[in-house]
Amino acid sequence: MKHDYSYRERQQELDSGRQFRLGDGKISGYCSVALGTLSLLAVLAYLYPAYLTTIELRQAYDAAFLQQFLKYGMYFSLFFGILSFVLNGYKRLGAAGIVLTLIAFALGGYSIPVGPVEPRRLSLGVDWLILAFMGSSAIFMTLEKLFPKYRNQVVLRPEWGLDLLYFCFNHLAISAILIYGNYHASHFDWALSETVQEAIRSVPLLLQVMVIILCADFVLYWEHRLYHEVQLLWPIHAVHHSIEHLDWLAGSRGHFIQVFSERAMVMVPLYLLGADQAALDIYVAFAALQAILIHCNLGISFGPLKYILVTPQFHHWHHSSEKPAIDTNYSAHTVLFDRLFGSYHMPVKHWPAEYGTTVRLPRSYIGQLFYPLSKHLKKK
Ligand SMILES: [Zn+2]
Ligand SMILES: [Zn+2]
Repeated sequence: MKHDYSYRERQQELDSGRQFRLGDGKISGYCSVALGTLSLLAVLAYLYPAYLTTIELRQAYDAAFLQQFLKYGMYFSLFFGILSFVLNGYKRLGAAGIVLTLIAFALGGYSIPVGPVEPRRLSLGVDWLILAFMGSSAIFMTLEKLFPKYRNQVVLRPEWGLDLLYFCFNHLAISAILIYGNYHASHFDWALSETVQEAIRSVPLLLQVMVIILCADFVLYWEHRLYHEVQLLWPIHAVHHSIEHLDWLAGSRGHFIQVFSERAMVMVPLYLLGADQAALDIYVAFAALQAILIHCNLGISFGPLKYILVTPQFHHWHHSSEKPAIDTNYSAHTVLFDRLFGSYHMPVKHWPAEYGTTVRLPRSYIGQLFYPLSKHLKKK
């Protein structure tokens, strides 16, 4: 019986070896490498924009203006690199950051002329990767530092590198995902209705956003539930559930089949509703931020909002390997469909003690990539 379950506190020991401490050069070393890598990637994107930037995203930013940020990024990478030498710690990381930045300077640095870009549909979203990494790490790492659920969980927690790899893949593949999503949605032309679209566009913007959220949530709920309850699909989605430490980066972990199918499915209601572009833009921003937020190591209670929207606590329960939480909390945006279809699990006073899958998955990218296949073959 569910109500007989005795909840436990999660034991999160402080891993002082992985901890960032002021003054030992570790923060400087990592900052230098991160900024050096991002700078080099940005310079390459300025050199080959047709291949390394995203057509949809280019319209939303001013490439010449962003070169100012690149300039600061490059100088800060050098500064942090030198600082790691001054502090006499993590000098290899500092040196790597300096070398990456010097290569970025040699290739043209922050003064590569910005001109018109030859439009190509398929490209690598290097621009999306850089902007998303800078934005998400700044916003969500700050929130996690200010309001952590597990104060002892460090930034460089186990498997952060693996999740960073997933983060890179998901962002680089953005144009392929969009092309596939649009292609998939176009199969639903038969369901297009001028009357529905006109009705949607005739209501105020905020209401349009709410309709989009509910329709998208309905599709995402059932897609997610099928991934859990259809035996053939579970090994694909199990990759996302293999995370054992949740934070802003953890939500990136997902098999590419799931990443592509999820975006393709959610594109269908967006396409059929035909809402105003502004409403779509608000929805996309809301969905992207919420998807990161709900995986964060955040102890904020969200007050009455937690009974309406999917919050970190609600989605953390989805990631729990404890019995009463298994196959619950499928919703992505609001808790409505879990309430309606009987899969709601939210003991508000408790958080999970255990995260992950009951059967442990391979711990490498390649291992997880082939996990659904190997699982399928083993069954035969
Ligand atoms: Zn799931
Ligand atoms: Zn998740």
